[in-house]
Amino acid sequence: MLALSADGTLPKVDYAIFADTGWEPRAVYDHLELLEREIAKPAGIPILRVTSGNIRDDALDPDHRFASMPLYILNKDGRPGMTRRQCTGEYKVKPIKKKIRDLLGYPYPIRVPKGLFVEQWIGISTDEFHRAKDADVKYMRNRHPLIDMGWSRSDCVHYLRSLGLADTPKSSCLGCPFHGNAQWRNIRDHSPSEWADVVAFDAAIRKGNARANASGNKLLGEAFLHRSRVPLDQAPIDHVTAAEWAARQRSLADADQLEQGVVDGCSPWSCRGEVEAVQDDFGLTA
Ligand code: SF4
Repeated sequence: MLALSADGTLPKVDYAIFADTGWEPRAVYDHLELLEREIAKPAGIPILRVTSGNIRDDALDPDHRFASMPLYILNKDGRPGMTRRQCTGEYKVKPIKKKIRDLLGYPYPIRVPKGLFVEQWIGISTDEFHRAKDADVKYMRNRHPLIDMGWSRSDCVHYLRSLGLADTPKSSCLGCPFHGNAQWRNIRDHSPSEWADVVAFDAAIRKGNARANASGNKLLGEAFLHRSRVPLDQAPIDHVTAAEWAARQRSLADADQLEQGVVDGCSPWSCRGEVEAVQDDFGLTA
């Protein structure tokens, strides 16, 4: 959308906002710099970087309140579960809303006058139109220009390719539990230092987040980044053939999610409810 705005296909936006969790892959930060240098700056569009802190550091800091990630859990009795996903709201939605209020001139807790709002564009394509939602506050109105243009994901890829941006990386936290095996393999096989980083983080959260442990709210089971609930460096992330899946009697949808990750992933404005907490008695949300 930034490029479409810069080249005049869409109207020129006043700002673009990047919500930084502090734990994106190096490739995403490099790409952001490239976009800023080659597209945003020449078009006079400022890219505003906003943040609520570093999600990785906060999870491991016993003195920091931590908005929990959607971790895979093995309860004491062996039952699988997941922790509540609060991170998207804390590390993406919150700092974006704060910046928007500041831009409007009505920082929290000042009431934004009735009728004053920003138009916020969200880059959802026609393949995922079901994710389009209205804003939950009156000072923002959501628009979905790609859907209005009838653009699918492949239209977007085609356009990016025409700009020389075929390698646009997927934005998400390096250690997001929503990764599929393809993403985990990509980190392992192409970025050894980032792989060491996520493996170390996976081991560090096995007993829950640092603050919950420090406050005596100990984990009664184990937490994992990988869906198999196996330590990441031992998890089965290598490609599994369709025949192997059939032998394991797993559905194709399951196989696809395991490989490609949770379909709806993490988006500040387009999360869906199916990855809500099914287990939360470890104080992981403390
Ligand atoms: S990318 Fe994953 S870990 Fe990061 S904020 Fe989104 S859901 Fe949470």
